[in-house]
Amino acid sequence: EDEYERFDREIEAMGVRIKDADSVKVRDDVFDEVTLIALYKLVHKRLISAIGGPISTGKEANVFYGERDEDEIAIKIYRIQTANFKAMTEYLAGDRRFSSVRGTRKGIIFAWTKKEYSNLARAYEVGIPVPEPLAFDRNILLMRFLGEDELPYPQLRNAEIEDYGAVYRQILDYIERLYRDARLVHADLSEYNILYHEKPYLIDMGQAVTLDHPRAPAFLIRDIKNLNRYFSRYCDILDEQEIISAITGT
Ligand code: ADP
Ligand code: MN
Repeated sequence: EDEYERFDREIEAMGVRIKDADSVKVRDDVFDEVTLIALYKLVHKRLISAIGGPISTGKEANVFYGERDEDEIAIKIYRIQTANFKAMTEYLAGDRRFSSVRGTRKGIIFAWTKKEYSNLARAYEVGIPVPEPLAFDRNILLMRFLGEDELPYPQLRNAEIEDYGAVYRQILDYIERLYRDARLVHADLSEYNILYHEKPYLIDMGQAVTLDHPRAPAFLIRDIKNLNRYFSRYCDILDEQEIISAITGT
């Protein structure tokens, strides 16, 4: 019996349906002991009823399709072994909500998962289109699935856009509301971390920081530069300094 069969067996023993057995067998150590315990907790609380195939295998996390009864969900699992926890530590240290977090690799990654949940919640509460966060446990974050019939909405870079100027302005408006209302800077904004279906959605907010983070101003500038770099190929863009002034009111 290989590791994947063991995983499938243990997950099925929890009463979770595995929708696509082959694709759950992702290579690497996503499903270590810690992750299985976290999954078990979430299943026990009836927050997960089915796990499907992987949607994405990123540098730090894997995202799986899942279901909670009739609802489609996204299951984001931060990998304990491969996540770049040194970089994470720096983002956490400057953020008052998490500045006391220190210590082990596991501890940092659990804090990071909670941080992404909190960031999504703050953005969601002020009405910015982001996936609604549903729950977290250890290194696993559950959020509403942005997509339909098991198919995620495309990333901005792959989306069919009619009016680039309008989408550009919409994203600038999100950045401004994120800053003014949620008091956050995304800090990793790109055509990869925006999904598009009828309107843009911001995703991937683990690294987003509160405005009191010493690097928040630099992260804001980097986000605007990224957005301008991408959109300059498709439409007129605004001056970076003018955008920053409008957002920060300085
Ligand atoms: P990473 O840290 O690996 O970049 P992301 O949060 O950006 O993780 O997610 C990676 C990819 O998974 C996204 O580009 C998107 O395609 C998909 N994804 C993430 N969250 C959702 C969601 N809530 N609904 C649908 N797809 C999602
Ligand atoms: Mn991402």
